[in-house]
Amino acid sequence: MLIDFHFHAFSEKIAAKAMSKLSATCGVEPLTDGTLSGAMELFDKCGVDKAVLLPIATKPSQQTVVNNWAAEVNSDRVISFGSVHPDAEDMFEELERIRQLGLHGIKLHPEYQGFFIHERRLDPMLSAMEELGLPVTIHAGLDPISPELTYCMPEPCAEMLKRHPRLRVILAHMGGNEYWEQALEHICGLGGEVYLDTAYSYYTPDELFTKMIRRHGADRILFASDCPWESPDRMFQKLDSLPLTDDEKEKIFFKNALTLLKT
Ligand SMILES: [Zn+2]
Repeated sequence: MLIDFHFHAFSEKIAAKAMSKLSATCGVEPLTDGTLSGAMELFDKCGVDKAVLLPIATKPSQQTVVNNWAAEVNSDRVISFGSVHPDAEDMFEELERIRQLGLHGIKLHPEYQGFFIHERRLDPMLSAMEELGLPVTIHAGLDPISPELTYCMPEPCAEMLKRHPRLRVILAHMGGNEYWEQALEHICGLGGEVYLDTAYSYYTPDELFTKMIRRHGADRILFASDCPWESPDRMFQKLDSLPLTDDEKEKIFFKNALTLLKT
């Protein structure tokens, strides 16, 4: 079995526009047309059985629409997370609605939602997320939309996690896209329910990648592609080529995901 813990898709209505905008920002050619059916086609080719959809409310006013759509497409194969915007007046109500809608977690993106991970104003929101108990995926490390300034760096992120020890968190991109040495130092090995996803980590040097996985523990690493920006196939081959045991690989490819999603 293979579970991809990080992919993006948009409703038919906005997919084309969103993809051309994002593709121009990232300087990366997408591997799908941005729709859900496009992603499923790629997953079929790559042998991905289930995948976690991570929508992002980039404005406070988008929360409701984004979460309603996520709930609509939630299925046995598409495991939908919801999103809240830290500046939304009804953010706490929306967190409760995410639970009621049966969504499986929450996605936060510092660059797209205008916050730095160390900001104390986030504490009430993060505490509410601890209470809620749903997993929270946070974009970590460099995002091409802001190449000069990264909003979630490994060290301040670790500080935040110390204040929220019960947060069930998934730090995307191995805890810090492009800042892997710092992630190794400050994030890898943190206790609690701190998971790392492998989204867009194809470029992590093999030796460092293996070291990060071993230091953090294969029990809390989740296979992820970041489709449509990276192919699940290429990411699978990268991980499969690392000197890890079959047991470690099984955990990363699907077992950890199943454990995290069922509790
Ligand atoms: Zn992503």
